[in-house]
Amino acid sequence: MTDALKLIEPKRSEIAPGVAVLRALPTRVRRLVGAWCFLDHFGPVEGEAMQAFDVGVHPHIGLQTATWLFDGALLHRDSLGSVQPVRAGELNLMTAGQGIAHSEHLGTECTRLHGLQFWIALPDAVRDIAPRFEHHADLPQWRDGDVSLRLFIGEFAGYRSSARVHSPLLGLELHAPTAQALTLSLDPGFEHALYVASGHVRSGEIDVPAMRLLVLPAGADVLQLELAAATCAVLIGGAPFDEAPLMWWNFVARRNDEIAAAREDWQAHRRFGTVADGGVRIPVPPFDLHLRAAGR
Ligand code: MN
Repeated sequence: MTDALKLIEPKRSEIAPGVAVLRALPTRVRRLVGAWCFLDHFGPVEGEAMQAFDVGVHPHIGLQTATWLFDGALLHRDSLGSVQPVRAGELNLMTAGQGIAHSEHLGTECTRLHGLQFWIALPDAVRDIAPRFEHHADLPQWRDGDVSLRLFIGEFAGYRSSARVHSPLLGLELHAPTAQALTLSLDPGFEHALYVASGHVRSGEIDVPAMRLLVLPAGADVLQLELAAATCAVLIGGAPFDEAPLMWWNFVARRNDEIAAAREDWQAHRRFGTVADGGVRIPVPPFDLHLRAAGR
């Protein structure tokens, strides 16, 4: 049944009392969609509960982080000196490469926070590149009927995002204020999955409620959707990632010794630099040695 549609229920992970995130990738059933290797859905939260999403200084290697908000604002700071708010409909894309540290704080005007945090595994040939940060506020946006589409990564329907990624990838937001049918042409060479953040989607015989990831069969070249009113979903895709990323804490590597070295460097205040006004520096957890390479 590897070629059937698969519906994934994200794992709930409590990050503060009463405040949970939903982890749709990686899961036991599916670890990668193209190079997309991590997907957390947070919120919507309001008031005091938002404080759980004010995250102090921590390191990354071997990945890109993509922050995509539906509501609210976060302020990104990093060890390159970047200080950049991100709001709904804008993309913050941070390339860790050989190593970067960053923090994320609630935007001053933020009264309700709702969004996604993605990680993209860097291919072996570039995973040691210098760190880099990009903000994209002017992304391709169009309508199909009453559905608003916004392309944050890759190419779709003749549009192209200027976000720089290192393997063929797609990130497309769909927002339907009213109930709509929508047919999307897909690249059959990509793997695809649809995460429904709010509302409800039906695809053929499959009902996809909010907070579920629908993984499409390999080779799919079309996606037919019936979107309920007030639906917000994100379609991700990418060329099959024929490498096995090893993920531990905030690090994506290939071998245990690389993870161990990054861990030691963070403890010893080496490699990752400092983040001005980044707040508390997050300590690395104990090394558990139970590392596992990701694979589809
Ligand atoms: Mn981070």
